[in-house]
Amino acid sequence: MRKSVLESGINCRRSARAAGWRLGALLLTVSLVVAGTGVAAQADYYSGGMPTRSFNYRTEGINDTWVGFYRDGNNRWNTSGARTSIGLNSGAAAWATAGNYSAAWWGLYTPYGIRGINRTFRIQQNARTLARDAGSNLAEWCRGNSVHELGHALSLADNPNTSRVTVMDQGVLASVRFPMAYDIEEVERIY
Ligand SMILES: [Zn+2]
Repeated sequence: MRKSVLESGINCRRSARAAGWRLGALLLTVSLVVAGTGVAAQADYYSGGMPTRSFNYRTEGINDTWVGFYRDGNNRWNTSGARTSIGLNSGAAAWATAGNYSAAWWGLYTPYGIRGINRTFRIQQNARTLARDAGSNLAEWCRGNSVHELGHALSLADNPNTSRVTVMDQGVLASVRFPMAYDIEEVERIY
């Protein structure tokens, strides 16, 4: 089960670092393959993202508090200077939810379809692991985790090994919960 989850999407948690290494190697391969399409081959490019930095998604099966966490995540990107336009729209194909999953991750991003043709995505946040690990700062962690998962929709890969400060390091929810300068630069480079 865990294995199939890892193969189908991007899981985001500190303890999953070994899996992250394998995934990172895979993503590097993918980014090299797509170099011919015009996006520079860098290890932090994630081909599972959306074809533009303007997109909507819907929320499903979550209460207003969780919807607010996603909305705050959108706003953190949209006001970051990365020139994104991310919104909630009940008619969108892409969707986001939250639940108490038995899996180890805080968040899981799963792309569907083909980039540039019919790409959509699903974001899941794990209320169980977030509540366990965030302590009294749960709301902020959920907002920061929204920013991180939306980073995948913006074609940013998990990036635990860079020396730059980035919201795409899976381990930094305790300290980084907004798009950082490096994240904004990368969105500008990709789009
Ligand atoms: Zn991630």
